[in-house]
Amino acid sequence: MEHMEKKVTVFGSFVVDLMARTPHLPAAGETVKGTVFKMGPGGKGFNQGVAAHKAGADVTMVTKLGQDAFADIALNTMNELHMDTGRVLYSDTTETGCALIMVDENSSQNEIVVILGACNTITDQEVDSLEDLVGQSEYLLTQLETNVSSVERIVDTAYRKGVKVILNTAPVQPVSDELLGKIDLITPNEVEAEILTGIRVDSEEAADKAADWFFSKGVKNVLITLGQRGVYINTGEKKGIIPAYKVDAVDTTGAGDAFNGGLLAALAEGKDLWEAADFANALAALSVQKIGTTPSMPVREEIDAFMA
Ligand code: ADP
Repeated sequence: MEHMEKKVTVFGSFVVDLMARTPHLPAAGETVKGTVFKMGPGGKGFNQGVAAHKAGADVTMVTKLGQDAFADIALNTMNELHMDTGRVLYSDTTETGCALIMVDENSSQNEIVVILGACNTITDQEVDSLEDLVGQSEYLLTQLETNVSSVERIVDTAYRKGVKVILNTAPVQPVSDELLGKIDLITPNEVEAEILTGIRVDSEEAADKAADWFFSKGVKNVLITLGQRGVYINTGEKKGIIPAYKVDAVDTTGAGDAFNGGLLAALAEGKDLWEAADFANALAALSVQKIGTTPSMPVREEIDAFMA
């Protein structure tokens, strides 16, 4: 098979997910005997990078780790998947990020504390060391989970080099007009779109208004994910909704990450935004049928079989 994919860079967070299931969430000062503990790789950036790689993209993953056992979880995962670890950054002083997740096994409610650790300490100098990598990429995909200064700087690097930037606005926080003006494709979910634009995305007309708000800031293309309803796309010239695949979801954590990774992989192959969104919907639909985030990302064969 011809390899038509272009190189892509995913820049973002890595955290180790430490998940405990418990009969009830502990009150302040209470100790509860939990039932299940699971530990595994996570972080929005890492999830999206793994999803794109497993979908067949030529991904270079950039994140920042500490010098500790949790860093090995990232590196071992990348090595097992044959991902390039050569551009991973390291901190001598800050630990690898982690997320402490408690899930009430009766109500499925959760409480999460995320310590972003090393991936929240990416310096300007470290971003500048990535200029060559970014310059060779067709796309840069990033999120808002690493320190904002690093996101602003890597987006600026890509923009100056004419590399298309996809910004997934999770976890949502205010972003500058300057940043928005450099984005080729923005991919908020409905909640993020509302927080950023001030427009509640509860109808297609409302989505049009939210898209217009992004366009007024200089964003070129808008894609709002709508959970089990699929995605809204607006390129300024053409707009519409691409429905999600109907599946029995067991764990929708990381659905947005699966979607963004799939979107990137498909765009890098030369699919148009509409075909890419359909591919990403399929990838996300497969991921929500499995528990976990990074480990629930399907491989290309599964996606192709599902879409056939
Ligand atoms: P986030 O995970 O960021 O909140 P969404 O909930 O919008 O994002 O989901 C992202 C994408 O994942 C959707 O656009 C859709 O393709 C897919 N998805 C989410 N939930 C489901 C579901 N229950 N069934 C099928 N696909 C889903």
